[in-house]
Amino acid sequence: MGNLSQKIFAVAHYVANKVQRPAVILLYHRVTTLERDPQELVVTPANFRAQLAHLAADYNVLDADQFLYHVKNKKAFPERSVFVTFDDGYADNYHEALPLLQQEQVPALFYITTSKINTNFELWWDDLERILLTADQLPLTLTVDIDGKKWEYNTGTLTAIRETYYALQQVLRFCKPAVIEAVMQQLYDWSGKSATGRPSHRLMTWEEVKAMGNADYATIGCHTHRHPAVGMLSYEEQYTEIGMSKEILEGVLGTPQVHFSYPFGGRKFLGTKRYYNADSIKACKALGLQLVTANYYGQVHSWSNPYALPRILVRDWPLDVFQAHMRQFFKY
Ligand SMILES: [Zn+2]
Repeated sequence: MGNLSQKIFAVAHYVANKVQRPAVILLYHRVTTLERDPQELVVTPANFRAQLAHLAADYNVLDADQFLYHVKNKKAFPERSVFVTFDDGYADNYHEALPLLQQEQVPALFYITTSKINTNFELWWDDLERILLTADQLPLTLTVDIDGKKWEYNTGTLTAIRETYYALQQVLRFCKPAVIEAVMQQLYDWSGKSATGRPSHRLMTWEEVKAMGNADYATIGCHTHRHPAVGMLSYEEQYTEIGMSKEILEGVLGTPQVHFSYPFGGRKFLGTKRYYNADSIKACKALGLQLVTANYYGQVHSWSNPYALPRILVRDWPLDVFQAHMRQFFKY
């Protein structure tokens, strides 16, 4: 984005936030300590705890029901309203994040991708990291068939391997689930590694999801079955992907599911590659979902579309950086 459009963007947000008090939705993925985190999705328990203590002291953290009430009824939010969400369903959400949320009395919503719950398989971007970035020895080149097209990548040096990892990340996030699965199978064969994942990267078990669903300060939501960019799928495929995670979670938890977040969830204005589109919103409405979040910068007002609400990604920020970001989120 150019300098001028950035300024216009900031001014538009500033004006909207002056007209009405905004609410901010925060997006987390993992709370744990990892040796390597190339996607920067991990917040350490120490930083997370400090962030929560700050939210509890200086902000008005709403739980899922309260947030839904304001969105559904188009009511202005209380001063300094914050909504805390987690994507994907990593086991550390239950073991490391939940105890800290309970300790600091901060509620959060956990969106679950269902296909790899209760398995020892990793989500594909973690698997890609496991195969490419943790191997002692890899072949010098990687030739891989992606949806009928042959691609060749250099894996001869550490720099080349890293570039290949980021290149494949970009390509695969816009592929359909069956294509991703076929590529991963080729990568297992090529590297000689098995499909079995690392305990450090596992998702929750069903017992953990159930315990989370019954826990104080936690609410469960859906995040598709296999985590595709739904904007790359037909309407029917989107309906099935989103609907399957909803149906599975309702079966396990025994409660209606009304929350959903788009995988990846970025809002792109240009090009044909989309993380979500008008059909996604239509599918969510048809499935009876009531509060749907995306992943782009912005604040929530009473006039915001409840089927594509903005969320702000939180990084592993120490307290002073988090405080500064929070002040800015409410201003621009
Ligand atoms: Zn996700």
